Amino acid sequence: MGRKRQPSSFKESPKGYLNGYSEQVQQQVIALLDAEKTGDLLLKKYPSAHGLNNTRQLYDYAMDIKNTFMRSSSPISKIIYDDKIHVINNALGLHTYVSRVQGNKLKAKNEIRIASMFRRTPEPLLKMILVHELAHLKEKDHNKAFYKLCCHMEPDYHQLEFDLRLYLTHRDRFGDLWC
Ligand SMILES: [Zn+2]
Repeated sequence: MGRKRQPSSFKESPKGYLNGYSEQVQQQVIALLDAEKTGDLLLKKYPSAHGLNNTRQLYDYAMDIKNTFMRSSSPISKIIYDDKIHVINNALGLHTYVSRVQGNKLKAKNEIRIASMFRRTPEPLLKMILVHELAHLKEKDHNKAFYKLCCHMEPDYHQLEFDLRLYLTHRDRFGDLWC
């Protein structure tokens, strides 16, 4: 067998995760991937995964951020890792607003679900995705006010979002970095 089969995702360009960035940045990322340098780069910056493995820990961690920066915004009933969220382009997490009729009352509930791959990421990247979903409590769209709120909660938001997208691109080609 002379020919080596590449994994099916090998040929995919990383543009899906990085299409918000300039062509130049995207080319730099492709060069880093081809040189197999993205793994070392990310591990050097983020040596280990967070230890927030269960729902309770995740909830407490997220509520701590909410109570610090967004105390007055609507309450959240649930914050969970969700195996059903597949990370495709922007679908890293979901913020849902559920209305349920209980007795004769209509109860509205905010729920935050994040992709279960975030169980195995460094804390700063988990924080970034939680900040993103928390900001959606106030701002539905990815507009200026939305990103301003994200940066208020996490000043390094934009760099972290880039690093997360870099990791997602890396992960498609090489697999998980943190266990
Ligand atoms: Zn969003």
